[in-house]
Amino acid sequence: MKITFPHLGNVYIAGKAFLEELGHEVVPPPTCSRRTLEIGIKNSPEMMCLPFKVFIGNYIESIEKGADTILITGSCGPCRFGLYSLMQRDIIRNMGYDVNFIVLDSFKEGFKDFKDNIAKIIGSASLVKFTKSVKLAMKLIKMTDDLTQLSNEVRAYAINKKEVNMIMDKFYEKAVLTYGAKELIDLIKSIEEELRNVKIDKYIKPLKIGIIGEIYTIIEPFVNQEVERKLGELNVLVDKSLTPTKWFDHHVLSYPFGSKYENTKFKLAKPYIEDMVGGHGRETVGSAIYYKNIGYDGVIQILPLNCMPEIVAKSVLKSVARDLNFPIMTLVVDEMTGEAGFNTRLEAFTDLISKRKEGSRIKIG
Ligand code: SF4
Repeated sequence: MKITFPHLGNVYIAGKAFLEELGHEVVPPPTCSRRTLEIGIKNSPEMMCLPFKVFIGNYIESIEKGADTILITGSCGPCRFGLYSLMQRDIIRNMGYDVNFIVLDSFKEGFKDFKDNIAKIIGSASLVKFTKSVKLAMKLIKMTDDLTQLSNEVRAYAINKKEVNMIMDKFYEKAVLTYGAKELIDLIKSIEEELRNVKIDKYIKPLKIGIIGEIYTIIEPFVNQEVERKLGELNVLVDKSLTPTKWFDHHVLSYPFGSKYENTKFKLAKPYIEDMVGGHGRETVGSAIYYKNIGYDGVIQILPLNCMPEIVAKSVLKSVARDLNFPIMTLVVDEMTGEAGFNTRLEAFTDLISKRKEGSRIKIG
């Protein structure tokens, strides 16, 4: 089988290596682009949330490159993600594409389906090989997340910000062409060294901003308009509240108790939002408070249009900002989001918090 999956930020790097280690032919989803989104918009229900549309575009672009099997995860939570696999399967088949879907739902949703789907992924590999590949994939996920965060840190202090962007672009280009986990690990190490050699201005005192919101929107640069880079170019040190590493830690490695980091966020959110509202709505609220507590200068919530959990979080964040006297900005992203307006809002926000930091009497609205 020629297998593909949706493009979720950096996850394709570990996903590709994982499936290759198991002996599958992988068709990595092409980097998300305006074309991806346009295909998705054209073939998705108008009111679906933005990630749904981008996924549809990913599938079709991968099918055009030869993919015959689509691997995605399922969900049972109270948000639209629980419907993704069913609806997307129908859409793709109604478009006339004859492809298989492997939907990795939690084993709590049905142990037999879970086992059958894992068996399809394992294919002819042994259980030992599978376990080894899972470990390698986890390592790669962590290494790519760490590399991205290192690039954010270096960019905030770099004399030439574009140099950091060029190094990371080279990494993404080479990652797609590299085969297997070992080669990828070597590539990550060499890119890390390049980043560490970038000339920095140690007198820069970067603002610290946390990016909060729904995980996909935070980690997929095309959808969030490359917010990490744009902020880094404004001398901002950026941290994301959710990354694939944090997600795996909470949902897989720390199962069933959950990770300390996420549990802290739930506790912090509790005075404002007690129950799960689907997606990462509760985490978004907890993350804002978390960043305030660790001394960040502000947070930016990225909200994909039509995302119900993030709409709930947005309304709660107003109280958080007021109670904690903490700058919080929400940026809604959809197919109509223009880059110029997005950049202007980022610049205005960083200006505002930098003046506030300098001690100006700026009122945060
Ligand atoms: S969290 Fe929001 S954007 Fe993500 S699938 Fe659920 S409704 Fe859609």
